[in-house]
Amino acid sequence: MRRYVIFAVAVVLSAQLLLSCVPAPQAFEQSEFIMDTLVSIRAYGKRAPQAVQAAFAEMRKIEALASAYSSGSDVWKVNNSPGQMIEVSQDTLEMIKLAQQVSEQTDGAFDISVFPLVQLWGIGKKGDYVPTDSQVSAVVASVDFRKIRIDEDKSLVGLPESGMGIDLGGIAKGYAADRAAAVLAEHGIKHALINAGGNIVVMGGKPDGSLWRVGIQDPRDPNGYIAVVRMNTGTVVTSGDYERYFIKDGKRYHHIFDPRTGQPAGAGVIAVSVTAPTSAQADAYSTALFVMGVDNGMKLVESLPEIHAIFVTEDGEIVVSSDFPDVKLQN
Ligand code: ADP
Ligand code: MG
Repeated sequence: MRRYVIFAVAVVLSAQLLLSCVPAPQAFEQSEFIMDTLVSIRAYGKRAPQAVQAAFAEMRKIEALASAYSSGSDVWKVNNSPGQMIEVSQDTLEMIKLAQQVSEQTDGAFDISVFPLVQLWGIGKKGDYVPTDSQVSAVVASVDFRKIRIDEDKSLVGLPESGMGIDLGGIAKGYAADRAAAVLAEHGIKHALINAGGNIVVMGGKPDGSLWRVGIQDPRDPNGYIAVVRMNTGTVVTSGDYERYFIKDGKRYHHIFDPRTGQPAGAGVIAVSVTAPTSAQADAYSTALFVMGVDNGMKLVESLPEIHAIFVTEDGEIVVSSDFPDVKLQN
């Protein structure tokens, strides 16, 4: 018996010795500007450079489908053909279907038909421009996700009225990050980190076997963190009022709209981070929860077992959903 034990110990030790001689897999990292944001992808292994190139190509493909501004994109065609059903790609259909589910579930806090509001306000494009109340209410009349027509079998999408428009800005980055991760996996990549302007996707833990540590930025301090989430594979997406905004007469105007009022959402939240089974879901819910505020938002999150959230309020309070996995608040 004793000899067996010694033998077993020796095997484990020599395996460890062998492991320590294996060099860490090569890391390859690249950044590109996609969907108005800096996207970085880091992958490990010999095939990482080709895999990362392919992942970027996939993200550019999603951008080209989802951009409301590039003429000829799926979304552009739908927005510019009121009264008609337009054939869209599977990816576009997927994003729109998921968006509609989140809209139903959040009673319209998430609503991709906000495009007329996005255009009217032009946050980040028109300077310190604040439209009048009557301009806003005229446009709010065109915002209603329930009016978007979808024929899933034929992959058709249409808007019944002119003046309507869809904008996938609240979901496309997450969806593109999911697709990028899928492409990396198809290329045999086991460990990777995708950062699409705060939409984080991690795969397979770090190459040394430890968990990825995803820092959640302090919304009022670009160098500070409010929390760290440890995960092997997963996603964390943050929506906040601090990336695209301007301040006029002491008031902050940002790019996430309350579809009911047509104003930048003002439910007392300055940032929400969400983890969910997919980054597209996390992206849509983070935007929705920002609009809903802590009380309503938390009620919803607690009813959805796969969605977890951290809210930061304008009073500096941090509210974490009860079963958020492996999260540690910073002091
Ligand atoms: P970011 O783009 O900064 O990551 P979000 O994911 O929260 O932030 O998306 C904000 C974008 O989503 C806006 O720029 C706009 O295009 C769109 N949007 C704004 N308000 C809403 C809303 N209530 N529902 C769905 N999309 C929205
Ligand atoms: Mg979003």
